[in-house]
Amino acid sequence: MQERLHTHAVIFTKAENFLTISSNYYVANAGEPLSCPPLMEDIRADVCIIGAGFTGLGVALELLERGFTIVVLEAKTIGFGASGRSGGQIASGYSNGMIETEKKLGPALARRLWDFSELSKEILYARLENHQIACDLGKGELYATPRKSHERWLLDEKEHCESKYEYGGYKWIETEQLRSLLAGQRYRSALYDQEGGHLQPLKYTHGLAKAVLQKGGRIFEHSAALDIEQGSSVRIRTEKANIIADSVVLAGNAYLSEFDLGQRKRFIPVQSSILATEPMEQDRAAEIMKTTACICDTYHDLDYFKMTPDHRLVYGGQDLSFGRKEPQDNQIRRNMLKTFPMLQDLKIDYFWNGKIAANPLRLPDVGRVGSNIYYIQGYSGQGVTLSAGISHIVAEAIQGEMERFDIFGKIPHKDIPLPSFLHKPAVYSMLLWHRIKDLL
Ligand SMILES: Cc1cc2nc3c(=O)[nH]c(=O)nc-3n(C[C@H](O)[C@H](O)[C@H](O)COP(=O)(O)OP(=O)(O)OC[C@H]3O[C@@H](n4cnc5c(N)ncnc54)[C@H](O)[C@@H]3O)c2cc1C
Repeated sequence: MQERLHTHAVIFTKAENFLTISSNYYVANAGEPLSCPPLMEDIRADVCIIGAGFTGLGVALELLERGFTIVVLEAKTIGFGASGRSGGQIASGYSNGMIETEKKLGPALARRLWDFSELSKEILYARLENHQIACDLGKGELYATPRKSHERWLLDEKEHCESKYEYGGYKWIETEQLRSLLAGQRYRSALYDQEGGHLQPLKYTHGLAKAVLQKGGRIFEHSAALDIEQGSSVRIRTEKANIIADSVVLAGNAYLSEFDLGQRKRFIPVQSSILATEPMEQDRAAEIMKTTACICDTYHDLDYFKMTPDHRLVYGGQDLSFGRKEPQDNQIRRNMLKTFPMLQDLKIDYFWNGKIAANPLRLPDVGRVGSNIYYIQGYSGQGVTLSAGISHIVAEAIQGEMERFDIFGKIPHKDIPLPSFLHKPAVYSMLLWHRIKDLL
């Protein structure tokens, strides 16, 4: 069910080149960028973390709190990857929903995973509080359904989480109430998750980075890890200098360059696109959305959106226009107008996209190569919440507590049996199939 809720979009553009991160609203809205120097001299640390997004910085923070010395290497700038581009929606559970997860993994493992996702939410909210990270936190997430036939999936999921996991956060929203919360007629009902929410992901990433620096961690930007020499101590080479560390954490997810230790075959990078409108008058914004919640719909080809504190609509989804269209005339805007036809006159100020690491099970893929190289990937569109818990259990594992880390070893992730040059056509076909299913 929730595959529809959280399988974020796919497009096939040369978007990384075509759309620079400067067209990203979050970059414009995050204030002064944090600036860390490149690595210029050889250093030693207990742990070297590759990638400065939610995951890498989360692991860094958790390790610093346990007394480890750490170094974070970032190939570009802090938050350059999905963490600076994300919809920022905070969800409960997993992309596929818990009924599907239980069918695939059995009740015992599904239960452990549910508990883990609850822990992840707890850690995420505690981090924001403890480190005073101001990131436009909004309360609640609405899963909006356009059709009566979709309501069953949501109601079943609600009932399942209540009866199996004693979850009390879901509330059902009928048509009349939904219409009072959202303008337009596109959706007929919704499942409200009162423990969900949303945040400005780049501000969150910067907040994590500041906390890491305050605790004495070192972050080096423009310092891609180019090579790893495995051993009881690991040597990581960058362009200008090397790091020697006892352990390494690969936290590059869909953006990871260079390293394939066998783990990369287990996800496909897919792209999702987001626009931000020009700001609206406060009254107009309140007419469009009378809720602080973010919204994600139940189409296979799903849309997700939220209102920002400066009254812009941030709207995401799937863009099949190959990036050729101008933001004023692209697929995402057309989708936005299906939901809110009354926004025809609004200009699009920002349009960007990013890569999501998706795997067939739609569950995080966390593991270890040898005794001291850890990797974390494949959140499948749910990394905002799950990265908080995963960074915690990876830090636990590095400290020698394997119990929770080992839960993830039980998930039967498999290699995707396609060479990488066929990933894009495969995902493209899947997206078209999703659209056909939605039309049907
Ligand atoms: C458009 C979009 C919308 C999304 N919406 C949501 C949402 O609403 N809710 C949700 O939960 N999730 C969402 N996601 C997914 C979520 O953002 C990701 O799961 C999460 O950001 C992953 O964080 P990360 O730190 O693991 O990876 P990233 O944020 O991608 O960070 C990886 C970093 O590693 C760096 N790196 C790579 N290789 C190297 C190297 N060799 N050396 C040094 N550094 C390197 C990269 O430059 C990058 O900065 C969305 C993603 C996208 C793209």
